[in-house]
Amino acid sequence: MRRHLCVLASILIAALCCLPLQAQTKFTVGTASAAPGQKSTGYLEVPAGVDAATNIPVVVINGAKPGKVLALVSGAHGTEYVSIIAIEKLIAAIDPAQLSGTVILIPLINIQSFEQKVPHVNPIDHKSMNRFYPGKPDGTQTERASYLITREVVDRCDYLIDYHGGDLDESLRPYAYWGPTGKAEQDRISKEMVLAFGLDHIIIWSERPTDPAATRYLDNTASVHGKPSVVVEAGHAGTVESDDLALLVNGTFSTMRALKMLPGEAHPIENPVWLEKIVDVIAFTLDAGFTANAASDTSIHSGIWYPLVKRGTYVSAGMQLGTVTDFFGKIIAEPRSPVNGVILHVNAVPSLKSGDNIANVGVVAAHAP
Ligand SMILES: [Zn+2]
Repeated sequence: MRRHLCVLASILIAALCCLPLQAQTKFTVGTASAAPGQKSTGYLEVPAGVDAATNIPVVVINGAKPGKVLALVSGAHGTEYVSIIAIEKLIAAIDPAQLSGTVILIPLINIQSFEQKVPHVNPIDHKSMNRFYPGKPDGTQTERASYLITREVVDRCDYLIDYHGGDLDESLRPYAYWGPTGKAEQDRISKEMVLAFGLDHIIIWSERPTDPAATRYLDNTASVHGKPSVVVEAGHAGTVESDDLALLVNGTFSTMRALKMLPGEAHPIENPVWLEKIVDVIAFTLDAGFTANAASDTSIHSGIWYPLVKRGTYVSAGMQLGTVTDFFGKIIAEPRSPVNGVILHVNAVPSLKSGDNIANVGVVAAHAP
């Protein structure tokens, strides 16, 4: 009898020990919940508020082996298609049997943008879905979605990668952002991530909000919370080209190897071009005699864009980037590069209105960081 009691006690102890362990190893984000070695799909359910509810798709890939948590987030801008399709490829390609740790994948935050083919903003509230972090529970849809992503994804991960690209109207060459924080160990890891990702132009994004209540950007929200994070961009003007896709998919695998989440060697870029700032070029300048309020004639608010440069072109200060005409063919502006640098993206379509940005020029850093 005494022996039976011992056996019974052992079973009870084993059961008590095992139950919480199993609960701990299952990883849940929104309605997606995956046990070790499994993939699970679900939604981050953004409740209705001052405007409509939305469901953001989420995938949890829980590795067979324990480890860190990596978040891969895309589609804040729902017509930056390469970044979205890259996450779709990764959902299929990441093998939980090979994985140490857990990957949270969000392929498409801004579903209304994707469905309605509206660039830059969420058409529900006309806000960019990468400008309102950390979000708030009683705001508009963009703010409520940002709030949920902060709690369910940023707070739960150890590392984060935010995926973007050229939007419908942007002809963009691939590049990454690295945002140093001044915290040595965090910056060492985020730099290792951005080099492992392998994009050959890297923007050093130094001056960013440090207030946790006003972080604005997703990757910055993770950074401010002490989590190494980077932004990667590839794809342009509505296209889904295999070269651009490969950059994002292969870059992710290389970064996961650098983070020891997958077996094998990372392939870091050896000598990237480091960029120390980005300069906006506005199509209609005061030099050309135009201001948004100066004229009542609607044609003067619009223009037709004829570019002289392509994405990736290196330009010198003063070089003409293109021509803007009115609807009668008269030249109304000849925007020039204010700096020496590389065209990171240039307006991809003829449509222009007063005040539009027609290009971003990246200025090469004097020294590698
Ligand atoms: Zn974007």
